[in-house]
Amino acid sequence: MTNTKVKVREVKLYIDGEYVESSNGSTFEVKNPATQEVIAYVHEAAKEDVDRACRAARRAFEEGPWRTMSPAERSSKIRRMAEIIIERKEELARLEALDVGKPYPVALEKEIPRAAHNLKFFADFMEQQGGEVYPMGEEYLNYTRYEPVGVAALITPWNLPFMLTTWKLGPCLATGNTAVIKPAEVTPLTVSLLGEIAKEAGIPDGVVNVVQGFGPNSAGEFMTTHPEVDLISFTGETSTGKAIMKNGADSLKKVSFELGGKAANIIFEDANLDKAVPTSIQAAFMNSGQVCLAGSRILVQRSIFSEFVERFKKAASELKVGDPQDTQTNMGPVVSEEHYQKVTSYLGIAEEEDSELVYGGKRPDLPEYLNKGYYLEPTIFIQENPQARICQEEIFGPVVTLIPFDMEEEALEIANSTEYGLNGVIWTDNLQRAHRVSHDVRAGTIWVNCWFVRDLRAPFGGFKKSGIGREGGHHSLEFFSEAKNICIALK
Ligand code: NAD
Repeated sequence: MTNTKVKVREVKLYIDGEYVESSNGSTFEVKNPATQEVIAYVHEAAKEDVDRACRAARRAFEEGPWRTMSPAERSSKIRRMAEIIIERKEELARLEALDVGKPYPVALEKEIPRAAHNLKFFADFMEQQGGEVYPMGEEYLNYTRYEPVGVAALITPWNLPFMLTTWKLGPCLATGNTAVIKPAEVTPLTVSLLGEIAKEAGIPDGVVNVVQGFGPNSAGEFMTTHPEVDLISFTGETSTGKAIMKNGADSLKKVSFELGGKAANIIFEDANLDKAVPTSIQAAFMNSGQVCLAGSRILVQRSIFSEFVERFKKAASELKVGDPQDTQTNMGPVVSEEHYQKVTSYLGIAEEEDSELVYGGKRPDLPEYLNKGYYLEPTIFIQENPQARICQEEIFGPVVTLIPFDMEEEALEIANSTEYGLNGVIWTDNLQRAHRVSHDVRAGTIWVNCWFVRDLRAPFGGFKKSGIGREGGHHSLEFFSEAKNICIALK
């Protein structure tokens, strides 16, 4: 399917079990990033609407039955949401491709199934959890309960809207909390459907609410300052995390932040390049490089630098850039006009910093109907100075920098030289080096000879300015619960 006219949708707010219009009538447009066509009018939540959503979530939390239901019953409803997502996966994938500009097959085969898995995984996982028991001889007995915290604000970015929202919603609901969700203003479509999916799955009204809008002085800020919100799970930019932390400080909200990244992808001379090259291409250009875990700094040992550059460049030139709805497309546009300006501004910065352009750096040749799309070729620079801005700042687009190094210590120093610490990637056939370097790279996830492999039991989060806290498995249980100890005198 290419170049077909899409219908313009109206996206409403989902509050207390109903889709409603914004109370002040305010709406904003959303465009298809491949064509700039308007694809939706979205109701922007006014302060009163966010207030209603937060109060509905509070009422649903206090009155139950969600909080007091057995874990088995709660989990069965969340698993039903996962089933509905799979039943509707083509529709959801089409919308995600339309809204974000990502290739449809990626949404269909990877992200929407992963979204369903997020819900199912946490439903199953939380159903299995108990508490601890600490007997104190014959006199006292301690036991621990994990109780839900209350109303959670779940705020997500535009790069993986549905997948990242369910990654938060799964553990939030499975531990008995209620939620007010806000997707990013540029990609509201799929997340808005979570309301009807929750309803069909039998989740009580008020447990899941979805508001739409922007950050500052809009829905995002209204949620994070709202007195009824107890905890905030946020994924987005580091600078937004700082603003949210300040806004949530007055009411001491519990926070979990998954923030920006600038991962080092380190290729040692003994790496298997047949695997390292294609995986590094994925790590650099998947989702047009709009991935927090992107391997956007590729550190290559000097002895294999030229060979790697040639192979990497050839593989990048084979990527098909085009219409996200076309099943042959490997890479679509970036998400919005504003983001396109940001990403392409780094082309000038790279030039000023004397970076060597190896490949890309301009708009690709595309059919006429994509002329207004926010497209950039996969772009590769070489930069010897790891302190250059293109090596330090999160570009979050299809722009990658190759940095040569000589010794392992130098690679480590470069890897650790940014303010971020979300993840790292290491390519080597030397087992000792693999462990040694994994320990010394200061980041929350290290992949050795692979990338983007996730087990949802494992902790996920960042060192340094890449985040606060961890989610995944029992880390999510701890974030979305209050652990209570009960001590009983036995005599
Ligand atoms: P962003 O921070 O601009 O926006 C994220 C969300 O926060 C949006 O819903 C936005 O409306 C909202 N928001 C903005 N200002 C706010 C405020 N003052 N108060 C409350 N909410 C506010 O991020 P983005 O541009 O949508 O996403 C890209 C960023 O997300 C990148 O930095 C990327 O690395 C990061 N990210 C991190 C992870 C991770 O797991 N660590 C995953 C995906 C994306």
